[in-house]
Amino acid sequence: MDFSTPSHIQALATRVRQFIDQEVIPLEAEVDQHENGISPQNLQAVREKARAAGLWCPQLPPELGGLGLSLQEIVPVFEAAGRSLLGPLALNCSAPDEGNMHLLHLYANPDQRQNVLMPLVAGTIRSAFAMTEPSPGAGSDPTMLRTRAVRDGDSWIINGHKWFATGADGAAFLIIMAVTNPDVPVHKGATLFLAATDTPGIEIVRRVPIMGGNDMGGHCEIRFHDLRLPDSAILGQEGQGFALTQKRLGPARLTHCMRWTGIAQRALEIATQYAAHREAFNSALSGHQSVQWMLADSAIELHASRLMIQQAAWLISNGDDARQETSMCKTFVAETVNRVLDRAIQICGATGISRDLPLSRWYEAARAFRIYDGPSEVHRMVVARQVVKHYGS
Ligand SMILES: Cc1cc2nc3c(=O)[nH]c(=O)nc-3n(C[C@H](O)[C@H](O)[C@H](O)COP(=O)(O)OP(=O)(O)OC[C@H]3O[C@@H](n4cnc5c(N)ncnc54)[C@H](O)[C@@H]3O)c2cc1C
Repeated sequence: MDFSTPSHIQALATRVRQFIDQEVIPLEAEVDQHENGISPQNLQAVREKARAAGLWCPQLPPELGGLGLSLQEIVPVFEAAGRSLLGPLALNCSAPDEGNMHLLHLYANPDQRQNVLMPLVAGTIRSAFAMTEPSPGAGSDPTMLRTRAVRDGDSWIINGHKWFATGADGAAFLIIMAVTNPDVPVHKGATLFLAATDTPGIEIVRRVPIMGGNDMGGHCEIRFHDLRLPDSAILGQEGQGFALTQKRLGPARLTHCMRWTGIAQRALEIATQYAAHREAFNSALSGHQSVQWMLADSAIELHASRLMIQQAAWLISNGDDARQETSMCKTFVAETVNRVLDRAIQICGATGISRDLPLSRWYEAARAFRIYDGPSEVHRMVVARQVVKHYGS
């Protein structure tokens, strides 16, 4: 494995960092004023600037209007975009649209490509992915899926209850995971459907209030009441729901990690600046060994995070599904970011707790990193199964 970053990718990452620092970070001041974290006018304006700067959709191929970078090449670019929680939104590489575009790029038929993928790429619509359900439905264990699609002639009738579908409020369409064949193991009996959110039978019940809130489109509870969709609404093939979801979630877990290192790196920079300029007990804080160790531990863990992300991205780029490595990476990076933010707040004292710095907001947002797209315990279970298989006999 070659660890060097090609010079043109390094140059692009530097340009993205400058763009985020100059054009996006100033917009963080309004995060509390809008339920989506940014006003529609400011979002449109910053997206136009990103397009004009040649930074739009780094993850997509040029024929779709992206920059054509490989999964490995986007690692430093997504980290630079992730320096602000608004950064990926500005470049149209934020969750869940980024993962949904990836899935649609791989599996959409020509009509779905035209009607859904292309407007998503253009940034004129948004999307949501509806898999998780309240108890007793699918959560950590997606095989507990309850939402049911029943064939009726050449269409399907869907009934079910979902929640935490990120971005659903204001999204133009949903990707819905539902059981289509209850007579086979659920891995083979679930299907993905594309549905416009204004289709009769879709009820967006509420944005579930969460800590660290004000995310674009919220995290929504949704009910399906006899939602009728044609056969042509199926994404991929009937029965492929789990296989396709795996294709989406593997790279999407890594791209989460890439973006998360952006705020963690910025938190380290903020804490270091504070420690270098704040005096206590006749020394700058950065002169005290316990503060130095906190800075060092964060730098070490961030370095390890980047290497883990790079290696898993390299494996996926080379055709491996990197199931183990993705689980290791998602667990380690999510927990690292939480530790880095915690240390940064500790170093900055009361200022760290205040809203004068972005650390407290990120701290709230980062808690969910250890839960969504698989809680740490579930990823550890995946890793442990292989450890026991290889070394347990
Ligand atoms: C901010 C946010 C955004 C989200 N966005 C989306 C989205 O866009 N689309 C979507 O479909 N879902 C989304 N989710 C849902 C998310 O994917 C689920 O929360 C996650 O899969 C866990 O399911 P659960 O919350 O039902 O937890 P549960 O299944 O109830 O599990 C609760 C806890 O039990 C523990 N646990 C579970 N399994 C094991 C095990 N095997 N061993 C030990 N402990 C275990 C873990 O600590 C886990 O946190 C989002 C969630 C959040 C918080």
